[in-house]
Amino acid sequence: MKAMVLEKTAPVNTNPLRLQDVNRPEPAKGQVLLKIISTGVCRSNLHMVEGDWLHDGVPSKFPIIPGHEIIGEISELGEGVNWLKKGDKVGIQPLWTTCGRCEYCLTGRENLCPHKEVSGETLDGGYAEYMLGDAMHVYPIPRGVDPELSAPLFCPGVTAYRAVKRSELSPGKTAYVMGIGGVGHVVVQIAKLTGSRVVAVSTGKEHSELAYESGADDVLNPGMDYDKLGDHVKKADSVIVFSPNQKAIDAASRLVKPGGNIVLGVHGGMNRINFVDEIQIRGSVIGPRSDMYSVLDLASQGKIKIHSTRYRLSEANDVLNLLKNGKIKGRAVLVP
Ligand SMILES: [Zn+2]
Ligand SMILES: [Zn+2]
Repeated sequence: MKAMVLEKTAPVNTNPLRLQDVNRPEPAKGQVLLKIISTGVCRSNLHMVEGDWLHDGVPSKFPIIPGHEIIGEISELGEGVNWLKKGDKVGIQPLWTTCGRCEYCLTGRENLCPHKEVSGETLDGGYAEYMLGDAMHVYPIPRGVDPELSAPLFCPGVTAYRAVKRSELSPGKTAYVMGIGGVGHVVVQIAKLTGSRVVAVSTGKEHSELAYESGADDVLNPGMDYDKLGDHVKKADSVIVFSPNQKAIDAASRLVKPGGNIVLGVHGGMNRINFVDEIQIRGSVIGPRSDMYSVLDLASQGKIKIHSTRYRLSEANDVLNLLKNGKIKGRAVLVP
């Protein structure tokens, strides 16, 4: 099969991914083989390919095939998998598998499982024609969900859903969403479903358009100058941050009002919080299976739409370059 393989991390403008012929994997007991229909291109993939996360042990092996938001059709079933069948369309999220036994797995928070395997980071992912899935962690694609455009439901979708859930929004509250990319434009849509007023904070013109298209009530465009927050200071019940930028996180601490919360979906430090404001700071990372099913349910009802653009699998390096330069509106998907 063809795959875009990473042998060594390097800046994306040097084309670190190579289109190669590799052996098609065989599903072991409890696994399925997917013929991939589409794979989303995530900023996490960019970080991994460029070596930003080597110090955290990501990827955990070389060579590796990146890609962690995938929809495919089951082409082979491993031993013991009798609840799925060939031809079923299913998705795989970053959480490729979990141990099923730890305190997190047993309480529906398996996204925190310390023994998890991560698609495209600890094992081969979706920048390929085929990929293995753990049958306990693949999700049937419901009616009304386009398998070629909806692979990003499996990372931005579930990530956005959980971040909004952790923000505890409700009618009459105000949410500020920072960063209107692949995840942010879905956060806006899901935050609107809570009945809250949603203000998007974006740096680019195209991203601002996407924020309005996604239902934002207002778009605050501070350019690269997060000091110009004006009247918006202390107006947010919740600030949800998906802008990969320390300045955005610092701005979040000024936007949130006393008693409010900040939900962080990116790496960064919180250093401007005063205890007398009782601000709550929460991380949010992908989501457990229950959240993933909720996302698919919303998508099948037409309540979440991913703004996706198709590229060919062989264009993965170019797409990562575009993403790095802020030139992807919504999400790019690779189609083998
Ligand atoms: Zn992702
Ligand atoms: Zn576990």
